[in-house]
Amino acid sequence: MAYFYKNLCQRISAANLPALEAAIDVWLIANGVTLRRKWINQAGTEALLFYHTVLDASLVNPLLVFTFDNVEIGQFNLAYPLFLAKGCAGTFYCNLNEIGTVGCMTWANIVAMAGGGMDMQDHSQTHTDFTTLTPAQMLLECAAVDAAFIAAGLAAPTHFSYPWGAYNNTVIQTLSTVRQTCRTYTNWTTSYIHAERSTFRYELQSYRIDDVLSFNVNDFINYHMEACRISKGIMVTLSHAVNVLGGGATKISDIETIIDYAQAHGFVIVTIAGLRTNWLI
Ligand SMILES: [Zn+2]
Repeated sequence: MAYFYKNLCQRISAANLPALEAAIDVWLIANGVTLRRKWINQAGTEALLFYHTVLDASLVNPLLVFTFDNVEIGQFNLAYPLFLAKGCAGTFYCNLNEIGTVGCMTWANIVAMAGGGMDMQDHSQTHTDFTTLTPAQMLLECAAVDAAFIAAGLAAPTHFSYPWGAYNNTVIQTLSTVRQTCRTYTNWTTSYIHAERSTFRYELQSYRIDDVLSFNVNDFINYHMEACRISKGIMVTLSHAVNVLGGGATKISDIETIIDYAQAHGFVIVTIAGLRTNWLI
């Protein structure tokens, strides 16, 4: 099944919204955009503009993918049991250099999660910015992760998330020989749910729901998730640490709130591996 669409979000000062709206409407009409939404945050200080073009809308349901990086122990202690309780699963990208260190998951945790239906994937061997590596060095990193997964009794990973979200064309060309998708993130400024570029499988954008920069779960649901639902888009979230209180981490109650909203509003919650198998060409 092939589909291509673009969702773009812009985050601007609410005070600038009235002056920009007229100009944006001209651009939208000229570019054939079919839907525009705006959302002012609860503090009234910031406006989010959302507009998209559906070139081939063949999704029946909107999709939601939870992804996690850096083997933080809260992913095992809090997110994993929540997913089991809710009957869904997430994708956990593991970097070898942190497995078994203080505050991080062990191989036993990772193997248990794989056995429980979680999607355990590759976040590199050393967590080095791949744009600083040669192709040969990148391939050695992937081979080391493959070997470690196999040594732990798991299948070698097939999906990757870029350390620091960093990539360029050389990284894409190299990783595409050994991985089926690569995920990056946008740090809130622009949130492409997907771009219609030919390399989009290697530029999977995600929206960070870490409790930093004033992430507000109600704004996220009312704006991003609601727009994603209406457009039958794909929302990929990104978390690192997960805890009870938030504060530099994703609050587990925020994940539960998002799952509950998604399951009550027709979303299908899938993993990256499931997304690739069932929806991405
Ligand atoms: Zn990372």
